[in-house]
Amino acid sequence: MTTKLRDLSKLCVHTLTNKPWNLQQCVEKYSAAGIRGITIWRNVLENQNLNEAFTMLNDNNMSVVSIARGGFFPSVNKPERIKALDDNLLAIEQAAAVGAPSVVLVCGADGRQSLAKSREQIKEGIIKLLPAAKAAGVKLSIEPLHPMYAADRSAVNTLAQANDMVEEINSDFVGVAVDVYHLWWDNNLQSEIKRCGANNSIFAFHICDWNVPTTDFLNDRGLMGDGCINVPEIRGWVENAGFSGFNEVEIFSDKYWKINQTDYLEKIKNAYLKYS
Ligand code: ZN
Repeated sequence: MTTKLRDLSKLCVHTLTNKPWNLQQCVEKYSAAGIRGITIWRNVLENQNLNEAFTMLNDNNMSVVSIARGGFFPSVNKPERIKALDDNLLAIEQAAAVGAPSVVLVCGADGRQSLAKSREQIKEGIIKLLPAAKAAGVKLSIEPLHPMYAADRSAVNTLAQANDMVEEINSDFVGVAVDVYHLWWDNNLQSEIKRCGANNSIFAFHICDWNVPTTDFLNDRGLMGDGCINVPEIRGWVENAGFSGFNEVEIFSDKYWKINQTDYLEKIKNAYLKYS
């Protein structure tokens, strides 16, 4: 086996990883650090002229990998479901405006109904978005979330469930986002990643680490190498399944948000080269 030396060409950072920074700071700092990929969280697009954002990204040679995030389809209340669709249409528009090829879907869940019902509404919602997604040339990535979020953030909790949905919807515009944080524990992960390969459906690959012990279920993600996830192994599976896109560093961390973000970016680069 030959081991190819890791370089920064496939590194993408999510703006929320550097939560203290606005879009301009993220773009300028990433670009200066030799990072070419950026996934834009919609909070930094608020009060931001999208044409100016597009120009700024271009001027700094950044590739926008995704917009994060759409989704949150299910609700026991129909008006809420309609509102969610409108918000997703806006996410698709924003993606097209800044040159993002895809929107990541955190699919949602409503604890007042069954997971099966929520999944049904998720599928319905995605199908309703398809004409707009196709017209805009923006793909939709279903991101399965760890089961600890099943009651409120996503009723899609395994890659198998996401693959089922992708196959049922059966559109080139719908695929999956594989996030090691959410999926590392699954003993079917390798075979389900293979299944994605057959469908050509891996649209995104998110990396970070699972801290042991974890002190917060949302904002205690680790930097690669901090915890127990074998990121290189999972990356190997994803690449064997035909994925050749960016590796997106997505870390929500109260700990890292407190430190100097420029120093943190250096840590991210080093951890990426060494542990991913
Ligand atoms: Zn993710």
